[in-house]
Amino acid sequence: MAVRPSPRGVALKFKNLGPRTQVALCQLPLSLIVTVLGVMTPFGWPSLLSSPLYLAGLALHAALFLACFLTPWERLRQSAYLIIPVLDLLAVGLLRNGAAPLLPGLAILVVFPVIWLAASGMLVRTSVVLSAVGPLLIMVPSTAPKLPNLTAADVTVLVLFPLVMLAVSLAIRFASVNMRVQHRELQAMGQELRELLAASREREKLLVTILDATDVGIIAVDSIGNQLLANNMMRRWQQTATPAGVVPADHSQQRVFAQDKVTPLPPDKRPLRRAIEGESFADYLVWIGDAPQQRAVSTAARPLMDDAGRLTGAVVVYNDVTGLVEAMAANEELVANVSHEFRSPLNSILGNIDLVLEDSDGMPALTVRRLGVVQRNSERLLALVSDLTLEASAALNVHPKRTDISGLVETSIGSAQAQAERADVALVADVPSPLWAYADPLRIGQALDNLVSNAIKYSPDGGTVTISAAGTEDWVKLVIQDTGMGMAPEDAAKVFSRFFRAESARDAAIPGAGLGLAITKTILERHGGKISCDSKPGMGSTFTLTLPAEGYSPSF
Ligand code: ADP
Repeated sequence: MAVRPSPRGVALKFKNLGPRTQVALCQLPLSLIVTVLGVMTPFGWPSLLSSPLYLAGLALHAALFLACFLTPWERLRQSAYLIIPVLDLLAVGLLRNGAAPLLPGLAILVVFPVIWLAASGMLVRTSVVLSAVGPLLIMVPSTAPKLPNLTAADVTVLVLFPLVMLAVSLAIRFASVNMRVQHRELQAMGQELRELLAASREREKLLVTILDATDVGIIAVDSIGNQLLANNMMRRWQQTATPAGVVPADHSQQRVFAQDKVTPLPPDKRPLRRAIEGESFADYLVWIGDAPQQRAVSTAARPLMDDAGRLTGAVVVYNDVTGLVEAMAANEELVANVSHEFRSPLNSILGNIDLVLEDSDGMPALTVRRLGVVQRNSERLLALVSDLTLEASAALNVHPKRTDISGLVETSIGSAQAQAERADVALVADVPSPLWAYADPLRIGQALDNLVSNAIKYSPDGGTVTISAAGTEDWVKLVIQDTGMGMAPEDAAKVFSRFFRAESARDAAIPGAGLGLAITKTILERHGGKISCDSKPGMGSTFTLTLPAEGYSPSF
């Protein structure tokens, strides 16, 4: 199929020609007609060969056409070439009046210079005046001798012809002004687009630089998993993929394992697949690749949506946290080993003190009192070591079964009664009975004991500790509320971290190791539940536990 050149393309090509060719091309249509006329004259109208005016017209045309090529237009002002159409008017006048009355229609040739003048867009007023005056002057010589006895036809020719040429000139002028305005608007739009494009390229460059500067792997995929963008880190991972593939190009071939490092993750649990399905997640820890190159990777994903809210892909971030995970494991192992090593000598100390105290008759009272202090502190130390061992143990096993939570609350209140009385704290329970949950009674009892004991411990001026509970079809909610010293909200957000102690507790010199709540949280999480804390200084604290109701079976 032939491709039609666009008007803009034609205009560009015309501009690329030299000024001489441009001027000659404008003159060419008229010159062609005049040439044909000149060639036909000896055969068609031989009498015209004796008309000096007619011959002068032909000669002037020939001279003008040559002038188009010979004049150094590039050195003259831009409007200088308009001398050609102006002289064309004169040449047409000579031709027409030389050929009249044989060829009166030759006057119509003025339309060429008139169009040229109007379309040039230069010397606007002069062009308009010339387009009317030129044709008028051409008509004058043939009508002037008839003055004052002009016929109606003469008057019509004298007036109408210049007017028609004026109209042609104005119409072309308006059309070319319109085109010029459109051209300018197009140019402005083009400029704006170029600027926008440049700005967007700059932004893209900035984005790529930022993405490449991060030490996390970032990948964007479309809705079927095809890669749209990947930063340097991601590409490096893809390139250095082991045979097992850290992140092979074909994501379905990825060797991805669960947190135990050995169970392969089913395809629908893989980060990329979850992201493509439209899930949004963070801190999703998986192991990628096979040992010894296996890496712990914390992944996060956000879906990509179009304006209509349709899923178009996803961005997934891979953060290599192998070092951190290994450091945490080493830390836990150290704590577990140290606490294990502490346990035997402590048990030995306690056993021997028990034996000594059993046989304390006859011993000085002061010695017995001092041994009592040693015994109490050794017991505290042993409790602390037990907490440490439990916290460090990755195998804090839970064995959930159908459990009545109201019974656990009752037992917990019973064990805390003596402590509460000593601290002048009232214990109130508001728990429906029975309240069934899917829980390990031993572990949840331990969590409750810890929370109730904390509530009493951190109410040094007495007060009330209320334990309330409610159940839905899926969840059981337990709330332990006290009216004690409370803590700052920023501390409340950190109480579940190991060894954390709120400023209020440290200021009040209430003893503790900051481990109980970390253990409590682990217990809840192992049940598939959760725990939160809400507190204000001097206004007491509220701990809320959520446990799966009976019938729920989380996969451990
Ligand atoms: P410990 O009580 O041995 O310090 P926990 O892990 O049980 O350790 O508690 C961590 C910290 O949380 C405590 O040191 C204390 O600052 C704060 N805390 C816990 N329970 C309460 C409570 N009921 N009221 C005020 N502060 C509390």
